[in-house]
Amino acid sequence: MRRRILRISPAGGKGDGVFALAEIPAGTVVVNFGGKERWIWDIPKHLWKRCFQVGYDRYVVPSRGSFGWYLNHSCEPNCAIRGERQIVTLRSILPGEELTFDYSTNVGWNGYSMDCSCGARACRESIGSYWSLDEGTRRKYGRSVSAYLLAPEPDEKGSGGRSQSRGAAARYSSSPRRTATRTGRSRSAD
Ligand SMILES: [Zn+2]
Repeated sequence: MRRRILRISPAGGKGDGVFALAEIPAGTVVVNFGGKERWIWDIPKHLWKRCFQVGYDRYVVPSRGSFGWYLNHSCEPNCAIRGERQIVTLRSILPGEELTFDYSTNVGWNGYSMDCSCGARACRESIGSYWSLDEGTRRKYGRSVSAYLLAPEPDEKGSGGRSQSRGAAARYSSSPRRTATRTGRSRSAD
């Protein structure tokens, strides 16, 4: 069995977060967003802020209490997305450091918006979809974003296309994922 390298602990004003228990080398898979892929409208609204996007309008809900459930955002993250569901460390992580990734590298829905006060020097203050990132930031992340965001634009007839996603999104008054500010990501929200 793999050595335990992560723990869930309070992360200041943002509720709980995921922290390193030991030094974790760069390139380590730390979280895998498992679970069944579902349409956003099949997921109860109170779970939206916990969802991880795996396609346009397609999401997985991490198991309650899992590391995926608690993984917080940072505008200067030390982890990134690899492929469709994995989170890997971008650099070596020291014991006690909080693990974070940039939510914008996961979200394809343009209606998404979340306030951010992650404290990073380059904090964007408002987190939007991947398409809201400036070109320099997108270039910095390169292929370290959700795989579906890098796929060629689906044709208009195809299901789950970006344009369709915008239409579906308009049916909702709030974001399907992590609508609240960072402070909303606490156990009490459950
Ligand atoms: Zn930030």
